Amino acid sequence: MSKILTFKKPTPKEKNRGKTLCLHDFHKWKIVTERKFDVKQGRLVTLFRCERCGKEKTEAR
Ligand SMILES: [Zn+2]
Repeated sequence: MSKILTFKKPTPKEKNRGKTLCLHDFHKWKIVTERKFDVKQGRLVTLFRCERCGKEKTEAR
């Protein structure tokens, strides 16, 4: 592997910190869609996505 990385590296400390938080289930949830209809649950839910790892969750209102 001799590929040269030219892009600016993110601070390793910051990067690892976020990942560690996610691993411990402390996600940075952000609302993606409010009052989305979930077919499985048969009701309106709010869709959240973690800004760091991209994990998604829904919450029934
Ligand atoms: Zn996360």
